[in-house]
Amino acid sequence: MRAVVGIDLGGTLVRAGALDPEGQLLAWAETPIEAARGPAAGVQRITGLVHDILRQIGAVQLLGIGIGSTGPVDRQLGAIQNPHTLPTWENVDVVSPLQDHFGVPVTLENDADAAALGEYWRGAGGGLDRLVMVTVGTGIGAAFVYRGEIYRGVQGHHPETGHNVIDASGPPCYCGACGCWESLASGPAIARRAQEAVLEAATPTSLLARAGGDVTAIDARLVAEAAAGGDLLARQVIAESARYLALGLVNVIQFLLPQRIILGGGVMRSYELFRPVVESVITQHNVMAPTHLVEMRPALLGQQAGVVGAGYAVYQLLQGEK
Ligand SMILES: [Zn+2]
Repeated sequence: MRAVVGIDLGGTLVRAGALDPEGQLLAWAETPIEAARGPAAGVQRITGLVHDILRQIGAVQLLGIGIGSTGPVDRQLGAIQNPHTLPTWENVDVVSPLQDHFGVPVTLENDADAAALGEYWRGAGGGLDRLVMVTVGTGIGAAFVYRGEIYRGVQGHHPETGHNVIDASGPPCYCGACGCWESLASGPAIARRAQEAVLEAATPTSLLARAGGDVTAIDARLVAEAAAGGDLLARQVIAESARYLALGLVNVIQFLLPQRIILGGGVMRSYELFRPVVESVITQHNVMAPTHLVEMRPALLGQQAGVVGAGYAVYQLLQGEK
């Protein structure tokens, strides 16, 4: 039997799985990355994780290794350049050490692209020709799969849709701009909006009690839980956040008009709370482009999407080499 290993490198965890050519998951392992201990220790940890996977699957021929990493990544150099979420990781070559150690091809993708490939192959994408995946979590990432291939920008770079400006008078973003999509609709943006609303205390709310009395402990998950429980203020925060989320989605739709948009990431586990506002805002823009043709679907693969998609990227590479 033959398999590839897909790796999903995030700011907190590194996850890995073995996938057969049909995309069946044969083994799974994960470990904290502890990026601040330095890139060399991190690469060692990833190598150990791949060995763990290989031990689990036994007598399988390893065809290649795919990595999906929190971006930005330089695919041509095989390097991760992300001191924001991986402290001390600047221009870190993750591809060559794994290639040398295991003697197989190694690919590197941006994590949003990897997740989109995973959903395209084995998840909510259904193999459609025009597919966008939007991941809403700590940030907002988006990827466009066109006829089974990731759309890539100049020199293979990943376009940063999460930094589309939605409201130029909005809050400052770490990228230097103001009112970026992710500074208005990501998990931290929702948390900040809720914290401000609680401090203004115009509406009675259960949020402060849910956060143990510590306003800074209010996060997007607590807001979603409170909203689901009928908390009025939490519902207002979700509605406002959903409007910003939807405005970004309208931009995506007006530009690409995909057949389907898949919504993934931790925040979108509560998509049902966002859905009414998102659908109504999108409908309002159904004038110049037929936005009603675009299906919105929650992601199906959850935390496995990046691993599955990184594995798919290896199969794509091997296909191209034949
Ligand atoms: Zn930004």
